[in-house]
Amino acid sequence: MPEGPTIKHFSRRLKRFVGKTVTEASGYGDMDKSRIVNIRLDDIETYGKNLIFVFKDFFVTAHFGLFGSMVINDRKKVNASFALHFADSEINFYVTKTKFYEGKPTDVFNFKTDILKPEFDADFILKELQEKYSELMIGDVLMDQNIFTGVGNIIRVEVLYHAKIHPDSLIKNIPEKKLIFLLKMVVDYSEEFLSLMKTGNVKESALVYGKKICPKDKTELLIEEMGKVKRKTYVCLKCQKLFK
Ligand SMILES: [Zn+2]
Repeated sequence: MPEGPTIKHFSRRLKRFVGKTVTEASGYGDMDKSRIVNIRLDDIETYGKNLIFVFKDFFVTAHFGLFGSMVINDRKKVNASFALHFADSEINFYVTKTKFYEGKPTDVFNFKTDILKPEFDADFILKELQEKYSELMIGDVLMDQNIFTGVGNIIRVEVLYHAKIHPDSLIKNIPEKKLIFLLKMVVDYSEEFLSLMKTGNVKESALVYGKKICPKDKTELLIEEMGKVKRKTYVCLKCQKLFK
């Protein structure tokens, strides 16, 4: 599944469409597309794993889920779930879920939780974690899009390794300075992920995601589906401490 930085990278590839007129929207998805005709595309934004097409009074989000994809000025053999047509070009989406919203993205979404936004507010997240998520395991909470908007499994696995925290640690037992460091890692690693998208070697550059041994002490990693999220997790039991 694409993670926040992947979507941000897509949005950068689409910037040249900003200011152009969308002549028509199509696709088999059941979202009402009647208002997306002969209208200027005002902006392309992101919110976590959502790509956002901003028009004057409304906007449309596109979420790639597990199997979604996007091609520019090209078509796959299967039907597009959503497509935006311009006079001389088109953007086609496959197996992508779209949603129509009235107003502006900031009316609907809280940018404070978006790991790639300048509005990301580590103090706010820390407070939320300690007040509302304290009984939960950090490995699960990192995948919660309401509090870590844009984090996917690669980011989750890598930042827990960087911060030396075992994913099954309960938030209430993790020292505050460790949580603060983890939040910094989330932002730093997401930026690194985004810049690695240009060369396409996010997975090759990962320290433990998709690997078998810890790069530091060469011990074998524990690789299994962990926590309630049941996502494949890579942990070094020597480096990552379980706070319980
Ligand atoms: Zn290790």
